[in-house]
Amino acid sequence: LLQLWAPLQFLGFFYRELRQSLVDMEAMFDIMATETKIPDGEIALPAHAGGADLELDNVTFRYGNGRDVLKGVSLKLKPGESVGIVGPSGSGKSTLLRLILRVYDVSSGKISIDGYDVRDLKIDSLRDSVAVVPQDTVLFNDTLDHNIRYGRPTANDDEVAMAATRARLNKTIEQMPKGRETMVGERGVKLSGGEKQRVAIARAFLREPRMLVADEATSALDTATEQGILESLEDVARGRTAVFVAHRLSTVRSCDRIIVMEQGRIVEEGTHAELLDGTSRGTKIGMYAAMWKAQAQEDEKERSSVVKPDDMVM
Ligand code: ATP
Repeated sequence: LLQLWAPLQFLGFFYRELRQSLVDMEAMFDIMATETKIPDGEIALPAHAGGADLELDNVTFRYGNGRDVLKGVSLKLKPGESVGIVGPSGSGKSTLLRLILRVYDVSSGKISIDGYDVRDLKIDSLRDSVAVVPQDTVLFNDTLDHNIRYGRPTANDDEVAMAATRARLNKTIEQMPKGRETMVGERGVKLSGGEKQRVAIARAFLREPRMLVADEATSALDTATEQGILESLEDVARGRTAVFVAHRLSTVRSCDRIIVMEQGRIVEEGTHAELLDGTSRGTKIGMYAAMWKAQAQEDEKERSSVVKPDDMVM
């Protein structure tokens, strides 16, 4: 613990902000890797087009000396496949993403990409291969253009404009006083949660990564915004290996596979259809279907509690 204390103190506010979630995974990735002494590997992951092969083999993980928060998790994704991870709060979903990104190393078991143990990979090459859409994207106090370009600093103007379009940031840009050159962040124009997520998606489009990792924000966005973001996420995930952590099940329904986690284990697995019709695999068949039903009822309650102008009797 003492060993950890100095870097934690050093990072102060920034670290506290980043610690619990994938706030800005890229920044966190750098910091954690250097400050918690994650040793760099020697192999550069080949950077070519198309998705990567991802395998988790019997992965167990605990934070420090705590209890196991992941217990024997195994998962195989072929290049271009997508997986959605759902489950109750605290079941280990975000932790799993952190391990794939090597913010921490597994306590036992192995994670490999294209057959290479991630511990053998150069951290930079791993980072370059994966784009992250975090729960809450941190913006730099700089122009929107710079914030998007962060995805690939060598990108030219047309490429940045294209990435912004594909992430559906055009309307936001049109409404800004200086377009893409407008200052954003703490000292500039404040972007909404949805707009910040779009910036992260635009960065991902620019990066052309082999893998995409997304951690859905817990705070609800309105349905139209959420749908738009989902569509651009699906767009950027196409042809790449993608891992989506979701709180809303509708986010992952079109994934090639969905896994349900509970207390650090995968308890059910299948496609959305299999999970709903009981042909899924695992120890808790029906858990997803129950969650789906509960979420539908909640949505219905929410819809009926909103009084629309059309419904009002004058
Ligand atoms: P949520 O849906 O609420 O985001 P989750 O399924 O993503 O939850 P994790 O964030 O992976 O769950 O957390 C799994 C467990 O690990 C929880 O019990 C949590 O309290 C614990 N945990 C998470 N981060 C840390 C940390 N930095 N140090 C110690 N324990 C942690």
